[in-house]
This record gives sequence, C-alpha cells and structure tokens, in this order.
Amino acid sequence: MDFIRDYADWFYLIGAVLFILTLRGLSGPKTAIAGNRYGMIAMAIAVLTTFFVAENPVVWMIVGAMVLGAIVGIARARTVPMTQMPETVALMHSLVGLAAVLIAVAAIIHNNELAKLDVGLLQANGVNFHEMSKVHLFELFVGCFVGAITFTASVFAYGKLAAKKWAKTISGTWVKPVQALIFITMFAAGIHFFLTGNMTSFWAMTGLALVFGWVWIAPVGGGDMPVVVSLLNSFSGWAAAGIGFTLENNMLIVAGSLVGSSGAILSYIMCKAMNRSIINVLFGGAMGGTAVVVDTGDKAPRNHRSGSADDAGFLMSNADSVVIVPGYGMAQGRAQNAVKELANLLKEQGVTVRFAIHPVAGRMPGHMNVLLAEADVPYEDILEMDEINSDFPVTDVVLVIGANDVVNPAAKDDPSSPIYGMPILEAHKARTIMVIKRSMATGYAGLDNDLFYNDKTMMIFGDAKKVVEDMTKAINGNGH
Ligand code: NDP
Repeated sequence: MDFIRDYADWFYLIGAVLFILTLRGLSGPKTAIAGNRYGMIAMAIAVLTTFFVAENPVVWMIVGAMVLGAIVGIARARTVPMTQMPETVALMHSLVGLAAVLIAVAAIIHNNELAKLDVGLLQANGVNFHEMSKVHLFELFVGCFVGAITFTASVFAYGKLAAKKWAKTISGTWVKPVQALIFITMFAAGIHFFLTGNMTSFWAMTGLALVFGWVWIAPVGGGDMPVVVSLLNSFSGWAAAGIGFTLENNMLIVAGSLVGSSGAILSYIMCKAMNRSIINVLFGGAMGGTAVVVDTGDKAPRNHRSGSADDAGFLMSNADSVVIVPGYGMAQGRAQNAVKELANLLKEQGVTVRFAIHPVAGRMPGHMNVLLAEADVPYEDILEMDEINSDFPVTDVVLVIGANDVVNPAAKDDPSSPIYGMPILEAHKARTIMVIKRSMATGYAGLDNDLFYNDKTMMIFGDAKKVVEDMTKAINGNGH
C-alpha cells in the first residue's frame, strides 16, 4: 500500500484526466455512456487513493459512511422518477455544500484543539503541527461560506422544485436591502475571522452564510430555478475546490474546479436559451420582476380547433415529413416509448420523422434527450433547435407532444411578452401543426400560447401516452 501513497499524485493525475474525458464524453449522447464509465473509474481511483493517503484513518467510520451513502444513493437512483430529477439534483448539491461546511468546521476545531496541546507531546506521537497559515484560513473561509450558501440555497431550490409548502417565494422592497445587509455582515465576520482567527466571527460568518443562501434564492421565480440549480452545481464545485486546498488534496481541487467551471458554462448556456442574464435571474426577483407570469384570463375567449387521434394519425401517415417536438408533458405522461413506436411506424410508411429538442424543454437540461435515449430513438433522428429551425417551413406536420413555452411564438413577435427574445422551436412555420395536451392550460411560464389558436393547428386533447398510442392504432388500422 506504500506504493499507492508514494505515487498518489500520479494516481490523482490519472483520475483528473479521466474526469476531463468524462466531461468530454457527456457532451454528446453517443459518447455519454463511455463518459459515465470514465467518471466511475476516476471516482474509484480518487476515493481509493485518498483512503491510502490519509494519515491514521478511522477505517470503520469511513467505510461505514460510504456503505450508508451507497445504500441511500442506490435506493434513490433506482426509484427516482425522471420527473423528479431536477429536485434530486438540487438536493445532492445541498449535500456537497453541507460537506464543505462540515469539513471546514472540523478542520478548524481539530486545529484549535491541537494548538492547545504541548508541541513536544505531539511530535513524540508523530503529529506534525503548524499554526494555521493565513492562506489556510482564507481557504477555509471561502470553502465554508460558499458551502453554507450552496447548502441552504440548494435546499430551497429542492423545496421549490418539489412544490413543498415551506419553500415560499419571497418578494417586496425589503428583500434587497436585507440581502445586502446579511451579505455585508457575513463578509465582515469572515474578514475578521481571517485576520484574527476569532471563532465567534467564524460561527457568525457560517450562520449568516446559511441565512443568506436562503434569502438570496427565495425571491427567484420558479421558471428560473433550473438556472439556479445549475449555478448551485457550479458553487458546490468551487466549495469542494476550496476545501481541496484546505485538505491539500489535488484531486479535490481538480474535480471541484471541473464541476465549478462546467456548471458555470451550463448556467450561461441556459440563460441564453431563456433569454435572461444571470444577474437578472439571481436578482430580478428581488428587484420586483419575475419570470413566472400567471395569465389572468381577462382576454376575450379565443377559438381553437380540435381533432381526434384518428384524424391526426391519418394526416401524419400521408405526410412526407413529420417533426416531433417533445416537452415536459411527454415526460409527465411517460409517453417516450409510445412516441418511439409511432415514429417507427411512420418511418415504415416512408415518412421522414425527426425530433426537435429545445435546450430547456422539460424540467432540466437534456431532459428530452435522456427520455428519447431511454426509448432507443436513434441519435441521428434527434436535432437541436439550431439544426432544425430552418426546416420547419418545409415540414408537412409538426407534432408537439406536451410542449408549450418552447414553441410559444410570443417569444419572437410579442415585445410585451415576458419571454420575448427567448429562442424557440419555430413550429408555427410548419404546414400543419398538431398539439397533444390535456387542456388549454398554460405551461411552466404561465403564458397563453398563440400557436394553439393558429389556423393551421389541430389540438388533440388527452394524456400524451394514450393519445400517441391511439394514433399508432389508427395508423395500423388504416392499413397503410
Ligand atoms: P411547459 O411546461 O411549457 O408545457 C408543458 C405542457 O405539457 C403543459 O402545457 C401541459 O398542458 C402539458 N402536459 C402536462 N402533462 C401532460 C400529459 N400527461 N399529457 C399531455 N400533456 C401534458 O413545457 P416545455 O417543455 O414546453 O417548456 C419547459 C418549461 O419549463 C420552460 O418554461 C422552461 O423555462 C421551464 N423549465 C425548464 C427546465 C429545463 O432545464 N429544461 C427546468 C425547469 C423549468 P396540460 O396541462 O393542458 O396537459
């Protein structure tokens, strides 16, 4: 085992390279499985190496915690429905934040206790003790306060996404000054701790950071929660990197930085897809604006056209090209396998069938890609927004399945709309539009959708899975 300890940095380097390959692999559906495998190997190398590098580890405690964690993690991974993934991710980030806080607290208490002991006694017992340097205190300060903010902010994000009663959005003119006051006091306490090592300041900083995480995220509207979750992912990475410096663990520094920077890039991409700036997402709520608008319904009633699954099946089987636009409703209705069957059947009839994916369709980044991959839809049939948008005008039928905001034309042509400027899938340009949903209800952003009232649109009401199955039956029954 001395071998592992002697070459620990080399093992960590291999782990770091594998983590980079993981990110590379996860950037495309075809390479995602390989990416996941690299990640698993890298994590195994990181954990094992750290185990052997640690001085006098209390083995039963470490193994006990790992076994407990594995039991909870495996049970959760097996049972969590796809629709609950975003809140599960938020909950996991909260644990990274909490771990960073606990490690910082443990490192400080440990150090303070050692400082009380006789240096000669410590050396006789083989313990090297040095006064904590300023650099060390600074790392702890950063790791602890970023971790504490990440913890409570992620718990709130979890509550909000899981629609828990206690996760109440707060608003009002008092919010911003209170946020600023807490932040400044927290920062002042942190600086005092950094300069003097005073423990009261440390506890004050940690406590205020926990409160700040909550009041910072609580005003953010529900529609912006995905960006917040992605940003908290980034934060949890930076907190881990900060703690990596404290523990002098290169692997944690590298892995934390990778998570931190990839989370920041994802937040940027999502902000662009929702046409929001990160500042607007994080402080827009506190300033009185919010992305989520509830339609008051004070407009005159409008007419829409509805049809049956049979009609829709007939039209599609006679089309040359069909583009399927999946949204949150496909996930909610667990319709992906039925959709794949419908697509296969249409292809057998000579229809060109493709899928169009909006970056924020569903409730988490990549939500639709994951579901379609689960249903074994070929990757080459799945196109991103930029790849497919120019094809809509020459598409015979667009079949929108449980999508709403991501095909709302108001984002393009209504400057008064809260989503104006958000890039959308331009389904309204197709020759015929079919929309499967259960009612005329709004989507996540709470906005009415002109697409549903378009002359070219046929609404097919019902649960996504049932309607798609009925379409398949209708096409089969037609004997085409
Ligand atoms: P939307 O939430 O805009 O619309 C989904 C539609 O699906 C609803 O209008 C609903 O209508 C319908 N629906 C729900 N259940 C079913 C069902 N069982 N069968 C048939 N239809 C159903 O979803 P989009 O995917 O279009 O847009 C995503 C929205 O979520 C965006 O506003 C985005 O900003 C936001 N968001 C995105 C995240 C991400 O990272 N992807 C994360 C969090 C939010 P009805 O009730 O009438 O059936």
